Amino acid sequence: MMADVAVIGAGFVGLSCAHWLLRDGHRVTLFDPQGPGEGASYGNAGTFANYACIPVNNPDVFRNLPRFLFSPQSPLRIRWGYLPRLTPWLARFLLSSTPRRYERSATALASLLSRAFEGYREMLATDALASFVREGECLYLYSNEASFQAAQRSLALRRSLGVQFQTLGRERIQQLEPNLAPIFLHGTLFSGSWYLSDPRAFLQALHAAMTRQGLVHERVAIERVEPRPHGVRLVDTTGRVFDAARTVICAGALSKRFARQCGDTVPLDTERGYHVRFPGTSNLISRPCGWAERGFYMTPMTGGIRAAGTVELGGYGPERNAALLNLLRTSAREALPSLTRPDADWLGFRPTLPDGLPVIGPSSASRHVVYAFGHQHVGVTLGGVTGSVVADLVAGRASPIDLQPYSPRRF
Ligand SMILES: Cc1cc2nc3c(=O)[nH]c(=O)nc-3n(C[C@H](O)[C@H](O)[C@H](O)COP(=O)(O)OP(=O)(O)OC[C@H]3O[C@@H](n4cnc5c(N)ncnc54)[C@H](O)[C@@H]3O)c2cc1C
Repeated sequence: MMADVAVIGAGFVGLSCAHWLLRDGHRVTLFDPQGPGEGASYGNAGTFANYACIPVNNPDVFRNLPRFLFSPQSPLRIRWGYLPRLTPWLARFLLSSTPRRYERSATALASLLSRAFEGYREMLATDALASFVREGECLYLYSNEASFQAAQRSLALRRSLGVQFQTLGRERIQQLEPNLAPIFLHGTLFSGSWYLSDPRAFLQALHAAMTRQGLVHERVAIERVEPRPHGVRLVDTTGRVFDAARTVICAGALSKRFARQCGDTVPLDTERGYHVRFPGTSNLISRPCGWAERGFYMTPMTGGIRAAGTVELGGYGPERNAALLNLLRTSAREALPSLTRPDADWLGFRPTLPDGLPVIGPSSASRHVVYAFGHQHVGVTLGGVTGSVVADLVAGRASPIDLQPYSPRRF
């Protein structure tokens, strides 16, 4: 049977697209060999970061890069063996870090982020999904005066783009989170942010609810996406063929080759990130606490505190960076001295374009194929609104958002 709409990828983006497409009355078939929320959507910090409009490509990169690359406490690493393949991406990333381009990216991100809650409002109206939402606002911490002063420019830009936050001093930080070591001089508390107690369980509940509404999940890996005059043909890795009127590509960090098959060369790469879990410790903090200089968040989740973050530019592959995992473990214990021994760690792949913006829009080869990938550090936050934009594109409705900045043809 031909699906109305095929969705490739069962992460925050793909499942949110499925939600909005089902709502429009489409018959939706999801394609993913894995269950819901097993990719990057599994091990993230779970924050609804509607304030996170400052992309990694920002002018501070030029000042910080030498320190980032060579300090043992740096949360940013490059896998040097991957450098030859990374160079074109890195060059574009640096070109996107000039003040003018970075402000353009921040403005476009803020436009999506300001609508992020609308993207989830309806899903969160059900008890099954609302039960995963925790109200604690995100607290971002600075242990070093110079880095707090350096952050003033990006904080001012956030404010000018509508982000609301309070700045806190040492004493107020200790009052809010008494178990934190007294090493944090400044903090910012972001109004209206919240977090999920278990991102994958949230997606499993969403998937179960949509299955009851008729969502079909084919647990196969798609090999080829072939635009046809009146639809799209999908071929899986065993050669099985599926036809759909429309197809949405939400395969996260693995979306690039599908874009190529549909006429677009997009410089998608991955920012690898890690987490370490400290079981039975969630009562130590009452909200996600980020440590700016070390590039990670500690989030009190169902299974314990999850210390999640860091950036490793090193492509897609299973090898883990022991030094970054160690940095996460030791930094988390430095921030929260009563943490126990960790019992699990994880590596995930943020899908990232060099200008820090996602790709959302129709393919060049066919308007029957729509892209929705590249949500870098904010895919949990932006899944819902991306789904609503994709449903508008599939329905041919005008989008309330100017989609030009997210075009696959911007590179
Ligand atoms: C350490 C870390 C912390 C983070 N913290 C946050 C945070 O606090 N807040 C936030 O908003 N974001 C955060 N993020 C970012 C967020 O996790 C990602 O942006 C988001 O999960 C991307 O979702 P996605 O649906 O695009 O991709 P994914 O979740 O990776 O899903 C892609 C899916 O596509 C499937 N797929 C791939 N290839 C094929 C194929 N050939 N056929 C069929 N299916 C295929 C995969 O199996 C996978 O299930 C964090 C990321 C990391 C790594």
